[in-house]
Amino acid sequence: MSPESLLGLLTVGILIWRLPGWCFRAARWIRRRRFEQRGRLVASQSSAWGPGYFGKPAAATNPHPGRVLQAKLDEIGSLHPSIESTREGTRLQLGAQSFESTDTLDFGQEIGAVPVAGLIAGFADYLDAGKGGCRPQLAAVVAEATRKYRALDLYAPPLRAADSEAPRRFWTLATSIATNPNADIRLIDPARPELAERIAFSVTGIVAAQLAEIFFGHPDLLAAFLHRPRHIWIYANDSAFAHEGGVMGGDYNPEVEAVQLVMSRLFEGYSETVPGTCPLLHELGHLLDAVNIADGRIGRAEGTLPGLAPGDGRYFQPAARQLFLDGKRREHERYLAAVEGRNGDDPPLGHPYVFHNDGEFIAGYFEMFFRNPHAFADTCPELYASFQAALNVDPRSYVRSDFDGYVSANRAFYASGQPVPRPGISVPTD
Ligand SMILES: [Zn+2]
Repeated sequence: MSPESLLGLLTVGILIWRLPGWCFRAARWIRRRRFEQRGRLVASQSSAWGPGYFGKPAAATNPHPGRVLQAKLDEIGSLHPSIESTREGTRLQLGAQSFESTDTLDFGQEIGAVPVAGLIAGFADYLDAGKGGCRPQLAAVVAEATRKYRALDLYAPPLRAADSEAPRRFWTLATSIATNPNADIRLIDPARPELAERIAFSVTGIVAAQLAEIFFGHPDLLAAFLHRPRHIWIYANDSAFAHEGGVMGGDYNPEVEAVQLVMSRLFEGYSETVPGTCPLLHELGHLLDAVNIADGRIGRAEGTLPGLAPGDGRYFQPAARQLFLDGKRREHERYLAAVEGRNGDDPPLGHPYVFHNDGEFIAGYFEMFFRNPHAFADTCPELYASFQAALNVDPRSYVRSDFDGYVSANRAFYASGQPVPRPGISVPTD
């Protein structure tokens, strides 16, 4: 065979060998483009985020001034409003209280006075955008009417610590997140983008607050996290979510490297005195696992948090990794004992679901770290200490009592004698 034909054959061979990879990459690129060109880029384009911490004055004015009533948002902000229409007019119902559309609620110095008519219109926008499936707390509706972050304190558990400087620090951080061009926070309803835009301020604010909760103790880590675009896409209703392949109300979609969540799920866990279920925290746990914090690229999810993997560059904390492995091993052993029906009174903290694989393990414990830190620290001190070191925060300092939902339900499951599925997690030995 001549050198020319050998070279030709080699070229054809290489082409055939590489072709599937090129096709795959091209298809992924096309899919990504399709995703990225819809919805609204709320975070960096909305003019609503201009003035920062102090917000804008309320846009709505009351055309028929009536009663002005003093109200405390920290007392009634967690209530879910409802609208009642009668022949006399439309009223806003809040628990046992009822307000005329001509009333004004004065929330004091920080938030100011808000006409009830504006709250009714804002709440109706939420109902409409969510197609009846989303009922936010009053706090979100007030935030939308006033364009003030402080109205969203309900969604910021770190502010429950008695630290007078915390709100300013917290909302300054949340503002920096919401206005960062790499924080791709969107509220998506392809069918009605104008409607989504009308409630985007509060939705973006709640997402930014949950990111600020994660990074409150470690702003450097936040900077590294936002070194590249992070996609957090909230869908106004179930049909918009399902249309883009969302599953189980919320997920981390590695194909488009995005957290996807139905809007209604943002409001779970904020109606009781103790912050509860938080699906967005769980999905952000998956995203943090996927990010390689050393260079900001999305890599292979290894079931760790930034700082706990040897590839994390200057963020790597070897001592914290050792604690992480010790703690995970202990939970794994407890779980294996449960599988074999010999765990007695020492079950693992997490639900069998989180022992399914390493990714669910980290996301599940990540959410519990923020919501039931006391039980977490008592049951798995090493694992808790590793999370504390990775994020430089101890949620026990502001979570006065645990959200007991997961803890009790999981204990009850292991005590029930039901069969426990075999685990799929790994515990590396360094
Ligand atoms: Zn998950």
